[in-house]
Amino acid sequence: MYFRRISAVLAACAVCAAVSPLIGGQPAGAVSLSSLQSQQQKIEKELAEINSELKSLKNDVAQQEQYQDTLSQQIALNTQKMAVIDGQMVQLSADMEENEEKLAAAGENIAAKEAEIEETSDQYKLRMRAMYMAGEASSLEMLFSSESFSDLLTNIEMMQAISEHDTALLEQLRVQKSDLENQKSQAERIQEDISQQQADMTAQREQMEQTNAELEAAYAESEAAVQNIQAEQEIFEQNAAAKQKEADQIEAEISAEIKRLQEENEKKQQAQNGGQATQFNSTFARPTDNGYYISSPYGPRWGSFHSGIDITAGGCYGKNIYASASGTVITAGWHWSYGNYVVIDHGGGYSTLYAHASSLNVSVGQNVVQGQVVAKIGSTGQSTGPHLHFEVRINGQRQNPANYVSY
Ligand SMILES: [Zn+2]
Repeated sequence: MYFRRISAVLAACAVCAAVSPLIGGQPAGAVSLSSLQSQQQKIEKELAEINSELKSLKNDVAQQEQYQDTLSQQIALNTQKMAVIDGQMVQLSADMEENEEKLAAAGENIAAKEAEIEETSDQYKLRMRAMYMAGEASSLEMLFSSESFSDLLTNIEMMQAISEHDTALLEQLRVQKSDLENQKSQAERIQEDISQQQADMTAQREQMEQTNAELEAAYAESEAAVQNIQAEQEIFEQNAAAKQKEADQIEAEISAEIKRLQEENEKKQQAQNGGQATQFNSTFARPTDNGYYISSPYGPRWGSFHSGIDITAGGCYGKNIYASASGTVITAGWHWSYGNYVVIDHGGGYSTLYAHASSLNVSVGQNVVQGQVVAKIGSTGQSTGPHLHFEVRINGQRQNPANYVSY
């Protein structure tokens, strides 16, 4: 499985949540209570493990989702980069086409210039040959062929002028050709440069495609992982629901047991005061001194249910726990989760419970008055620090203590 961790969920009163057992003094209920308690301990432990697993799986899903977000961002970024490269490639292709045209034009111009040079050069050679032959034919012949001396001079000057003109023309043509060749080689360099850029970009793009393919594969893998985790989560959730149902059943049985103990106490009370039903005419007082606060309220907690309020203060270890109202102690003993604890029946179906005490000051059957010290604050049972876990019940059913005492 993915990123599996087993983390123990332990905090103040972690397990006392759905628990309210009684151990004290009633032989009739002792066997069933003890059996209920051990069932409950087992179920609560299993529930805690399941919830811890679920928490871990949820965390795994969150991690995978975060990972997927990162992958998506990387893919989007890469895709943007590829679009930029594609744009550049289009520009490069246009540049290349333009340059190829220049190159072709330069080639044509050079060929035309070469033809021109060739032609001019041929004409020049012909004239030079004519002049040479004229030279060979002796000045006399030329002299005789000329109608006058001045005519002869004119002929010679003309020949020289033609020669000078041709030489200049040829020189000019050669310069033009050289310019064209420079243009051509520049265009060739540009072409090489563009080809190099195209090759670089093609390589970059291929690299990015490769990277994106890898990122997408990782994304798909992560999605598959999430599906596995979710399938597992579903199984755990089904297990948790089944366990919770069991725990609720036991809680109901325990509430019934508290009610039974209260009824037994009620009978005793009635026997003592001539058959009169007890009534709760009082109010509840804070079970601690002032300066305390609620560190964990009543209600659903960690996939379970916190059946009371946790009351604490700095340096509270060993400080007094007071009876919230007058009544009879119906339980005073030890429980694996509550630690040292006391339950007081106040009559009229009301009872209060005080848990995690460092020591107890009362015993079963004892009558106590409101404000009497019944125990000392501690951290016994399933507790991570000194505090008082305080419950109020009516006919065994848990109530929100915050409705009865204010902090
Ligand atoms: Zn608690």
